[in-house]
Amino acid sequence: MTSITVFDGAESIGGNKIHVEEDGRGVFLDFGTNFGKTAMFFSDFLQNRTSRGINDALALGIIPQLDIYRSDLRPSDVKTAGYPHLNVEAVLLSHAHVDHCGAIGYLDENIPIVTSATSIAILKGMQDTTLISTDVVYLGKKEPSDQKGLMVKSGGEELIGRNFYATTAPSSKLNDFLADKPKGPKSKKTMTPGLLSHYEELDLPFEVHAYDMDHSIYGAAAFLLEGDATIAFTGDFRLHGKYGSTSKKFVSAAKSASVLIIEGTRVERSGESKDDDTISEESVRETCCSTVESAGDDLVIADFGPRNFERLETFQAIAQKTGRQLVVTAKDAYMFLALDCADHACSMNNVQIYDELKDRRNIKWETEVVMQQFGNKYLSSDKINAAPEKYILCFSTYDLKHLLDIKPDSGTYIYSACESFSESMDLDFKMLWNWLEYFKFDVKGFCVSEENGKETVSFDKEYHASGHASQKDLAWTIDTINPEVIIPVHTENPAWFTEKWENTRIVHNGERVEF
Ligand SMILES: [Zn+2]
Repeated sequence: MTSITVFDGAESIGGNKIHVEEDGRGVFLDFGTNFGKTAMFFSDFLQNRTSRGINDALALGIIPQLDIYRSDLRPSDVKTAGYPHLNVEAVLLSHAHVDHCGAIGYLDENIPIVTSATSIAILKGMQDTTLISTDVVYLGKKEPSDQKGLMVKSGGEELIGRNFYATTAPSSKLNDFLADKPKGPKSKKTMTPGLLSHYEELDLPFEVHAYDMDHSIYGAAAFLLEGDATIAFTGDFRLHGKYGSTSKKFVSAAKSASVLIIEGTRVERSGESKDDDTISEESVRETCCSTVESAGDDLVIADFGPRNFERLETFQAIAQKTGRQLVVTAKDAYMFLALDCADHACSMNNVQIYDELKDRRNIKWETEVVMQQFGNKYLSSDKINAAPEKYILCFSTYDLKHLLDIKPDSGTYIYSACESFSESMDLDFKMLWNWLEYFKFDVKGFCVSEENGKETVSFDKEYHASGHASQKDLAWTIDTINPEVIIPVHTENPAWFTEKWENTRIVHNGERVEF
């Protein structure tokens, strides 16, 4: 008998924590951050206290009340022994978006991660550059301090890596990257990497097969788990991207599945079909390219989702065609090097690195790695100011402070990422708008306008192709796989599935179903 328990992510976009078990042996499908739940209690100025280990996230229900977490994050006043103990032999991680992987850092460090080599490289790059705040790839052990309930670092500077099992044969380059943590000559920091091996080497409770999927980050995977029941898990995916045909290979293989766990991001809560499935990566390239062409002598800024390397390559092609150069941040350049350790090498041809005004004394990943490798590619704010028509800057909201150093007279800003889906995101867009108004930018892709004395944010769909399958493509996927049971996750509207397929089984958070 196979059981599936959805601990989180059933009725929200993100936060997947799905446990699949057979004969007392189990795995998690993803173990991500639920941003909605986190935002209920925390913000920039009220944060989860790392000195209290798992306490805050556990007490507030941000992570499920289970006995599966790192013992070194358990303060003396937190008793998890009374919580159910699950057998977790691995996390099968679909991709490196934080809403799928962000809570792995809390899990017992002996639980290995099965994911693509590309995702492993991206996760390591993210942790090195502090783009992810939890210890997904490596951790510094903690221990209780003499003050009750507080955790402090133990073992000085020793970092220990988790074990990773890649879904494709990992390269020695990736092995070296996992073993390396930029640290500076005087640091005593040591890194003991975990094991890096191929997933066929790992004895799992199911016969597991991984498939590449097309999504808005490279390295996305879907999984087929063969046990008493055959379970297909899509992760996040789309069919309309450049690599849509890879997702279709999974759909074909999943025809053997009796249970399909499928994402439903683009099924709007209202159930109304506002979904536009005519926008492809190719049409986005055409729209953005003609915008850059008509920008004339203006500076162009392209703002796309974090680590959306495919969109970055789209802008690389646009830069080439329009005789401009792409300028990325040092973190992006570090991620290029990380990707180079896996199967996805992005080219740094025709790419420069924005030379941010900052104190780099403690930024070892930049001084030891990026500057060593690409020192000749750094470009100062003055150079951009002198010839703005030569560049496309890859910036997002948080990089706009650099405009105070570049001092452009005007410019074109292309917003090429997902729409706002919450009031707090609306506030961020209003702030972004203020910056762009201040610097007299012509803005494409979104707009803040005033209606009845109230500011509203709207988006131009032509500038972004979603990373998720359209409603039509979700329907095609389900009808083609034709499973006995459909379990929707990663959606705010599971009822959309129930209305269309009577074999939909809505599994609420915390609920367990058996097959
Ligand atoms: Zn995703």
